[in-house]
Amino acid sequence: AQRKLEEKERFAMLGRISGGIAHEIRNPLNVLRTSAYFLLNAKAPAAEKQHEHLTRIDRQVAIIDSAVTALSDLARMPEPSASSFEITSVLEAILCDMKLAGNIGVEQDFSDDLPLALADEKQLTLVFKNLILNAVEAMSAGGVLRLSASLQSQRVVVVVADNGVGMTPDVVSQITEPFFSTKSRGMGLGLPITKAILEKNRCEMQVESEYGNGTTFSISIPSSGVQS
Ligand code: ADP
Ligand code: MG
Repeated sequence: AQRKLEEKERFAMLGRISGGIAHEIRNPLNVLRTSAYFLLNAKAPAAEKQHEHLTRIDRQVAIIDSAVTALSDLARMPEPSASSFEITSVLEAILCDMKLAGNIGVEQDFSDDLPLALADEKQLTLVFKNLILNAVEAMSAGGVLRLSASLQSQRVVVVVADNGVGMTPDVVSQITEPFFSTKSRGMGLGLPITKAILEKNRCEMQVESEYGNGTTFSISIPSSGVQS
């Protein structure tokens, strides 16, 4: 009976995923078709108009490309290759690459007795990119991003907290389902990918959120025991 149930869940998941792909890709395809049609059929279109359509094509291709990349990340999540690394450097590099709006403050609290994290560095980088991006998106009206890293029972615990829009318990219960998103342009793949990576890397995730007040994600990562 257990196997039947799992099979049923897998099919339900497959249905959601294929529905999601169709939805994500159909929109940009329609825009592409319209622009291609214009470029093929318009008699002597103004250079300006041509440029507008080509820019649109370029943007839609980028949207399809990121949807496909996210899906293949999810579908064939490679086996992790663990190494020891400084999680704080990963967090700092992500912040450095991200252009944060002026209305977003950042507070960091990294304890200095931190051992090295033991996991796949690239995969964990993707996890924290997703979490930090979500935190920032939850604070479109401004706020403070709080990042902390500490040692707790031999594991490195990283906390990503925001004081943004927060979530209701109902939303919290769905956030790791593929294609679940409350955003108008959200793909809903960030947290499913995050969850898959964390499971493969023997990491754990906890979420606390209060609607209207903010959200805190805590990630616990195995440590190498060696101080960084
Ligand atoms: P996306 O960001 O594309 O919507 P995710 O899988 O990254 O997809 O997140 C799924 C949903 O979880 C979001 O649409 C949002 O409703 C909720 N969520 C995730 N992180 C936060 C956060 N820090 N604050 C509020 N809501 C969040
Ligand atoms: Mg996201």
